[in-house]
Amino acid sequence: MGIVVQKYGGSSVADAAGIKRVAQRVVATKEQGHDVVVAVSAMGDTTDELIDLANKVSPDATAHAREFDMLLTSGERQSMALLAMAINDVANERGLAYEARSFTGSQAGLITDAQHGRAKILSITPERIQSAIGDGAIAIVAGFQGVSRDTKDITTLGRGGTDTTAVALAVALEADVCEIYTDVDGVFTADPRIVPTARKLGQVAFEEMLELAASGAKVLHLRSVEFARRHNLPIHVRSSFSTLNGTVVKGSIDAVSPQRIQQPSEDAGMEAPIVASIAYDRSQAKITVVDAPDEVGAAAKVFDIVAGVGINVDMVVQDASAAATERTDITFTLPRDDVERAVKALELARHEVGFERVIAVPRMGKVSLIGAGLRTQPKKIADFFSAIAMAGVNIQMISTSEVRISVVVADEEVDRAVQAAAEKFSDVEVEKVSYGTEVDGDVPEIVGIAHDRSEAKITLVGVTDEPGEAARVFDTLAEAGINIDMIVQNVSAEETRRTDISFTLPRTDVKLARAALGEIQSEIGFADPITDTQIGKVSIVGEGMRTHPGITSRFFAALAAEGVFIRMVSTSEIRVSVLVSTDDLDRAVRATHRAFGLDSDVEAIVYGGTGR
Ligand code: ADP
Ligand code: ASP
Ligand code: MG
Repeated sequence: MGIVVQKYGGSSVADAAGIKRVAQRVVATKEQGHDVVVAVSAMGDTTDELIDLANKVSPDATAHAREFDMLLTSGERQSMALLAMAINDVANERGLAYEARSFTGSQAGLITDAQHGRAKILSITPERIQSAIGDGAIAIVAGFQGVSRDTKDITTLGRGGTDTTAVALAVALEADVCEIYTDVDGVFTADPRIVPTARKLGQVAFEEMLELAASGAKVLHLRSVEFARRHNLPIHVRSSFSTLNGTVVKGSIDAVSPQRIQQPSEDAGMEAPIVASIAYDRSQAKITVVDAPDEVGAAAKVFDIVAGVGINVDMVVQDASAAATERTDITFTLPRDDVERAVKALELARHEVGFERVIAVPRMGKVSLIGAGLRTQPKKIADFFSAIAMAGVNIQMISTSEVRISVVVADEEVDRAVQAAAEKFSDVEVEKVSYGTEVDGDVPEIVGIAHDRSEAKITLVGVTDEPGEAARVFDTLAEAGINIDMIVQNVSAEETRRTDISFTLPRTDVKLARAALGEIQSEIGFADPITDTQIGKVSIVGEGMRTHPGITSRFFAALAAEGVFIRMVSTSEIRVSVLVSTDDLDRAVRATHRAFGLDSDVEAIVYGGTGR
C-alpha cells in the first residue's frame, strides 16, 4: 500500500489526552498497512501565546523577523516530539516493531525563500523522511516551517501553514492522498461556528475551495489548496474527533485544468505563480447605473430588475467613494446581446430606484491572465496591469482570483491590451473565449459562503485617471510584498478626470502599505489614504453562478432584508464578495446562507478549539 500523509491541527493536539488520541489514530493507519507521514501543528493556542509573549518582550516583535520565526517554530517542535513519544508508547504497549521519529521542517528538507513570516516553498528534498519510511518508521514532521535556501535561517510559512507543509510533503513523496484532520467534520457550506446549520460538503472542486479559502474559510490554508491543484492531489478534510468521512477536495471546473499547467522552474520554486494563458472575450458590454441612492437595498433592486429579465451579470463594481455624497454608481458587465433588454428594464424602474440615468457601453472586452497562484503573488498582478498601461490602454474594471486576473477595457483596445500582455508573458498561449462558458450538468448555484474579518480597506481619493496610474499604485504595493484582495476603481467623473481607488488588504499590512503609498503620493496626486478597519467580507462561491441568473440579486436582497449596508462589491468568475461593517458580519453570513437554501436540519458539531 502507498504512502498516506496526515496533518493534525492545533485543536486536535491541544493537550496530552489529544496527543495520545492522535497517536492511536496514526498507529491505526500504519496497522492498515500504509506508510505514514504526519505533519503536526503546535498545541492548541500555542502559536498565539508565543506571539503574545513576544509582544510583551519587544514593542515591535515582528521587526525581529528572524528571531520571531525561530520562536514560533518552537511550538511545532514541542508537538512533534510529544506525538512521537506517544506513538512509541502505543507501539510498545502493543508489541509492534516500529518507532516514530520526529523531524523539523529543515530536517525534512523543506527549503524556502527568505521571507520570514510568509516564506514560500522552493523545493522539498525529503531524504530523511524517505529513509525513515524505508526503515518502517512513522515520520512526524513539524508543520509550518522550513529553512531558507540562501540564508539558512529558519522560516515560517504563514499562519495556518501546516496544511501547506502536509500537502507539499504528500506531493514530494507521491502519496496517494493527504488527510487534513481538524476540529470539524469537513468543509461546510459556511463556518459552522457562525452558521450552526451549515451542511458538510461531500466533495468540492479545487477552484471553489481556492475561492472559499481565499475569502476567509480557514479550514484549509489557501496555499495548500493551490499546491494540491497544481499537482492534482486530492485532499481529504476530516475530523480527528470522529471516524466519519469528511470532504474530498478534488477535480477541476476551470477550462485551465491542472494537467495543462506547466510546473514552474526549479529555480522559481514550487509555489511560484504560473501563467498558463491569456484569454480575451469581445462579447461583453457594460452598464453603469449613475447616481443611485447609496442606501440599503438599492443595489439589490438594480440586480433584481436585471435578473427579472433573465440576464446573467458577470463583473460588478459598486463605487466606493469616500466622499459623503450618499449617491453611488453601480457598474456591471453582461453579454452584449442582452444590453437593450437590460437598459429598457432599468429605465422603467428609474423613479422607483431613484437613480439619475443609465449609461450603456455595448462594446467592451475582457482580457484575462489565467494560471495558478496569481493573487498571492502580487507582482504578477502588477506586471499585467503595467503591461496594459504601457500600451496606453485604460483599465475600466478589474477582478482578481487565485486562477485569473481580468480587466475590462474598451472593445477597440482589446487587441492592444492582448498584445501587450502577450509580450510581457511571452511563453504562453493566447485564446479567444466567449461570454458565459457553458457548464456541464446540473451544478448547485452556490457551494458555500465564506467570511473574513481580517482585512482593512484603504481608499485613495483623487488619483489621476490616466493609463498607468493604477498600475503604479499596485506595483508599489507589490514591491512592498502586500497581497491586495478586492480592488475597486470608481468610474471617473468626466470633468475632473480623477478617480478613487479602493482596495482591501490584510489588516496587519496597513502600516506597511501606508508607508509605501506615502512615497508615491505627491507624484500621483491623491489625498491622504483613508483607512477603515471596521469591515468584514462576505463571499458567495460556486461555479453555478456562471449559468444561473439572479445570484447577485438574491445575495443583495438577503442583505437588504437584514438591513445590512453594502460598502463595496467585487467579483470573480465564481465568487461575489461584499464588504459590510464588522457589526453586521455574522448576521449577513447567516442571512445569505439561508437565502441560498443551504441550511440543514441538523446542527454541525464543532469539536474543539476556540476559533480564534
Ligand atoms: P486546525 O487547527 O485544525 O488547523 P483551523 O482552526 O485552522 O483548524 O480550521 C478549522 C476551523 O475552520 C473550524 O473550526 C471552523 O471554525 C473554521 N471554518 C471556516 N470556514 C469553514 C468551512 N467552510 N467549513 C469548515 N470549517 C470552517
Ligand atoms: N501553528 C501555526 C499557526 O497557528 C501553524 C498551523 O497551525 O498550521 O498558525
Ligand atoms: Mg488551520
